[in-house]
Amino acid sequence: MDPSARQLCHACADVREIGTADFISSVPNHVLAGYPFVMRPAPGLTEFRNARALRRLFPLLLMLCVASTTQAAAEQYYDATFTVEIRPDQPAARVELKLTGTRLPSRIELHTDPGRHRAFASRDPIKIVKDEIVWTPSGDGARISYDFVIDHERSSKRFDSLLTKEWAVFRGERLVPRLTVTSRPSLKGRTTLQFALPKGWSAAAPYPQEGASFKVTDTGRRLDRPEGWMLVGKLGKRSEIIDGVQTIVAAPEGESARRQDILAFLNWNLPHLKEVLPAMPKRVLIVSAGDPMWRGGLSGPNSLFIHADRPLISENRTSTLLHELVHVAMGIRGDEESDWIVEGFAEYYSLELLRRSGGMGRQRFDAALERMQEWAKRSPNVFKRESSGANTARAAIALRAADLEIRKVTENRATLDDVARKLAARGGEVSLEMLQTTAREVAGREVQALERERLAAPL
Ligand SMILES: [Zn+2]
Repeated sequence: MDPSARQLCHACADVREIGTADFISSVPNHVLAGYPFVMRPAPGLTEFRNARALRRLFPLLLMLCVASTTQAAAEQYYDATFTVEIRPDQPAARVELKLTGTRLPSRIELHTDPGRHRAFASRDPIKIVKDEIVWTPSGDGARISYDFVIDHERSSKRFDSLLTKEWAVFRGERLVPRLTVTSRPSLKGRTTLQFALPKGWSAAAPYPQEGASFKVTDTGRRLDRPEGWMLVGKLGKRSEIIDGVQTIVAAPEGESARRQDILAFLNWNLPHLKEVLPAMPKRVLIVSAGDPMWRGGLSGPNSLFIHADRPLISENRTSTLLHELVHVAMGIRGDEESDWIVEGFAEYYSLELLRRSGGMGRQRFDAALERMQEWAKRSPNVFKRESSGANTARAAIALRAADLEIRKVTENRATLDDVARKLAARGGEVSLEMLQTTAREVAGREVQALERERLAAPL
């Protein structure tokens, strides 16, 4: 229990011993302000000397106690502001985290990537233990700052994080190290993200924007840290609410990014994705940039990156954009052998959604599956730490087989959509056992297409 809440409950306990007048004065005015019914009894205070009346009043006092406790707990906030300064002539961004409030966390550990986070500085004590920075914020305003090296190669000369003279693209969860916050449970941070940028630059991040700041919300954490894809520079942004999803496409000005094509494509396809996964994020940022960025798609929380040269539909008829969007909507990750599940759902639905939206006729869909089936033969076993290429084709084929089997045994009352929806609702890490259990729940019996022996043997 929060100590301050305990304090207010003690105030309620005191009332029963020493009288309501003390009670009223013992509750802070700002708490009273929300409960005018407490102020009114004052003229009739004498009746409180009557024990029966006091008993009658007790439920009211209890209510006030609970209400006050809730109010007090809700008031335990401090502000956390991340300011990211980016200058094209500096390879690293300067990041500052500023905490302000009457109460601050007693300790914050930053789990850094030493190759990308460096030059930590604070007026408060900081202790460096290997890759961990232990910061002890003090006073009612505390700051810590560090450099973040933006450039990062994903493969030779291909970047998944880059600063150029005109723009920079990076991910929030790389920009800000993972944080472990020590504070009383009721103390919560209200996080905002802001940028200090060269003249004419603006920022895109997967959060609601209020003026120059982004409001970072990721409920469930004591201190939210910015996550997802971000783009800064001279940007062209297009945005549209598609089937209730605020969809924003951002790319550097002058890049051959397909902003309008992407929005049109999603107008056709996103409603079909939402039918499968109705709980998908209400806001999705699509960031696009050209060379020397990695020539593919990469998903992140509420956001994705797609190389500006990627077609919306590839020659094998799958869609990189839809594949990444399925990742965003499902929000699952595989255990050490189950990346195939994550990639399989994304790949299968990148075809299936196009079929449902009318983007592809039945014949072309079947031909695409046949080609995928041939490719899948090159994967002797789906269980790999990271799934790609033939392995992902094999995974998509296995899920397609599971879909047909579920439809058959349930006489079309259930489909793979129900499995996807249940896995997405649970979120987090998935395993083969979890997939099998979920499929069994949906089908009402074991789904043979998902048996380990089948998935581990050559096709
Ligand atoms: Zn993928």
